Amino acid sequence: MSVPVGGGAEAALGAVRARLARARRVAALTGAGVSAASGLPTFRGALGFWREHRAEDLATPQAYARDPLLVWEWYAARFHAAAAAAPNGAHLHLARLEAQLPDFTLVTQNVDGLHARSGSRRVLELHGNLTKSRCERCGHLDALAPGFALPPCCSRCGSRARPNVVWFGEHLPERAFEAAAAAFSRAEVALVIGTSGVVEPAASLGRLAAQRGAVVVEINPEPTPLTPYATLSLRQDAVSGLHALLGPLTPPPG
Ligand SMILES: [Zn+2]
Repeated sequence: MSVPVGGGAEAALGAVRARLARARRVAALTGAGVSAASGLPTFRGALGFWREHRAEDLATPQAYARDPLLVWEWYAARFHAAAAAAPNGAHLHLARLEAQLPDFTLVTQNVDGLHARSGSRRVLELHGNLTKSRCERCGHLDALAPGFALPPCCSRCGSRARPNVVWFGEHLPERAFEAAAAAFSRAEVALVIGTSGVVEPAASLGRLAAQRGAVVVEINPEPTPLTPYATLSLRQDAVSGLHALLGPLTPPPG
């Protein structure tokens, strides 16, 4: 069912909250909407431009082969924006859930590293992470530091390194996706937050949980392809939706 903000569906929300309070196995998938609340652009639609370039034209192996420096400049700008951004209430709610539950899996399509910075200890990053570079020759990962040289070189073998992200047309990291699918298969409650649900196969995770009988909660301002499968759709942004579902964020004891 779909619950409008302030609508008369408090009972539905209450039932889902009660189910969540009893649940031991919970999986969550986050997308650009969670990062947007920290001021990071979603790079979709009208916002999908950096300088005069469309994001879709930069986040490809072809673009990198054609103009590696241009693609690196884009990732460097995003790296510095992410470094300057602070985690928001949605990140903090999810870090808190991980601490409270025996079996909680956080899966993200975001590459900004904000989940880890907000205290989430185990994050399956389906699209990689822009805080690291990956050697084109030996695959070694190096953490990037503010003001890093372009293009960065591998600290192990000196070869050119690329952004450690998944580009359009590339495969998702296999082990991370398998772990994500396993978590959504066994989850009693699945949360799908701030994602348009059009990027497959990540979008299939919510459907998988629904087909296995989980309570599926979607938090997104707009309807998505997952909406027909969701037990509850909160038409809110990530922060207020998680706030409605989980209650106020109280400071940790001590
Ligand atoms: Zn190397």
